[in-house]
Amino acid sequence: MSDDLYVCLAIDIDRDAVVPVKGKIEGVNHFLVGKKKTSRNKVLYDGTIKGLEILMPFLKKKNIQCTLFMEGNFVKHFENEDILDSILFHEVSCHGMDHEDLLGINSGIKLNYSTQKKIIGTATKMIEKIIGKRPLGFRAPYLRLNKDTFHVLVDQKYVYDSSLSISNDVWPDSFKTRIIETPLFPCYIQTENYKITEMPFHLNLYLWQFFEKKKSIDFYEYAINKLFKNRNGGYCMISMHPWHICYSMDEQRYLEEKEIEYNYTSFFQFLEKLANRSFVKFTTISEFLTKTDLPDEVVEIYFCNNHFP
Ligand SMILES: [Zn+2]
Repeated sequence: MSDDLYVCLAIDIDRDAVVPVKGKIEGVNHFLVGKKKTSRNKVLYDGTIKGLEILMPFLKKKNIQCTLFMEGNFVKHFENEDILDSILFHEVSCHGMDHEDLLGINSGIKLNYSTQKKIIGTATKMIEKIIGKRPLGFRAPYLRLNKDTFHVLVDQKYVYDSSLSISNDVWPDSFKTRIIETPLFPCYIQTENYKITEMPFHLNLYLWQFFEKKKSIDFYEYAINKLFKNRNGGYCMISMHPWHICYSMDEQRYLEEKEIEYNYTSFFQFLEKLANRSFVKFTTISEFLTKTDLPDEVVEIYFCNNHFP
């Protein structure tokens, strides 16, 4: 492995401003919580579609391939052929069927192995049928998963999971620790008999806080420079939601054109700056994994009350 810093851009393609709701397995647009269902009010992807229409052409033009974690239900609603075309340029992965609360933490409905198998299986087939590519990896909705989820992913021959986070910028010196809650490097993890490759994401590099005006975009550049300085190599993962370019969770509203323009212009400038760094190489998750020797040692995962942490 070279000293380059591999940058994975992970895009979670889900319904706009999704939240878990008591009594419902599926995720709900938070501005529709408690509202009466109409045909229009069922599930909205307006911000996601608009965000993708902004993002996809830029990424293709800049030749930046990323990993798309998609809801199966989203691809069912797919109408824009140009977006479909540009999606094929990227790596396709899965983000549930309807953004399910797999652990039932908020819904109160805990999903067992066979229900999770049905949900993930349906989403996998749906994505493969419409996009024409089998999803390679999985990111759990709300980042909530348990040993049953791993079991399903292994059964369905998923190449990797990417639902565990790196919550700080410290890199481990070795993999000697066998019991760890958040792996800090791609590794094999195991729970009971199920072993899968885990590609953890950087929690600090989720763009959520930028789009909610809690952090400037400069923070992300600073953090990535720091990661490179500390490590001289390895990878970092920047994650985002397309709807977040167009919607504010804090203010509970779709943004004005000017605000949207500010969001994507700042984001694009940030990506261009990164792309101009000699040490930065953009890559998809699976591509990074093919270039990386994972440690032989398997990290054992222990679930507390069947969820993380
Ligand atoms: Zn999501």
